[in-house]
Order: sequence, then structure tokens, then C-alpha cells
Amino acid sequence: MPDESEMCHTCFGTGEIVTEQGPVGCPDCYGDGLAAGGSKLEWRLRDLERSYRRDSRGAASDIMWLVHELRQARSALVLIVTRCQDAGEDDEVALYARHQASQALGLYRATVTDTAKKVGQG
Ligand SMILES: [Zn+2]
Repeated sequence: MPDESEMCHTCFGTGEIVTEQGPVGCPDCYGDGLAAGGSKLEWRLRDLERSYRRDSRGAASDIMWLVHELRQARSALVLIVTRCQDAGEDDEVALYARHQASQALGLYRATVTDTAKKVGQG
């Protein structure tokens, strides 16, 4: 079972959810039990867009707006990571911003070294 910080919070890391039809693969982690990030998150956004595109109860416009806003925010984080990669290793603000943005994007999983650095900053 994945670490709690990496675990999918929809299925609690099991990779399955129970529906009225019985257990099915988790739609948020695609069955691996890990939190969505990177391309998996984009797949989930596309699934949501497909599911709600023809929704007649009025949720479609809300979902499309949320998906758009999420993509814009993630795009800004990618630009931050890219910009911070050009900063020198002595630029602590850039290193911190790159670390936080990378974590939010799910670009890499936290390692013991990353955790130690984070604790050292706190
Ligand atoms: Zn899941």
C-alpha cells in the first residue's frame, strides 16, 4: 500500500471503489492506488470533460470551468518550475518555489532527502 501522502484519497490506496454494481477500478488513480499527478491527472480531466459535456442538469459549465481553471493553475506551476530551474543553486527562494511547484504538480515523489530538507527549512 502506498505511503499516505502519495495515496489516492478516493480509494485509500486500494485501487478499487465499491459501487452498486460491485467493486470497480478507481477512476481517480486508474487502479494503482497512487494520487493523481502528471499525465494521469490530465487523463482524469479528459474523462470528466467527456462525462459532463452533455450533462443536462447544469453541471457541465461548472465542471468545464473548474477543469479550465485547474489547467491554467497547473500551467502556471510548470512555468514556475521551468523558470526556477535557471536559478543558481544558492538561490533558496527559487529552490523552495521549484520544490513546492513540483510537489503540487506531482512531478516527483518526496524522498527522504527532500523530507529532511523540508524539515530543515521549517
Ligand atoms: Zn484511487
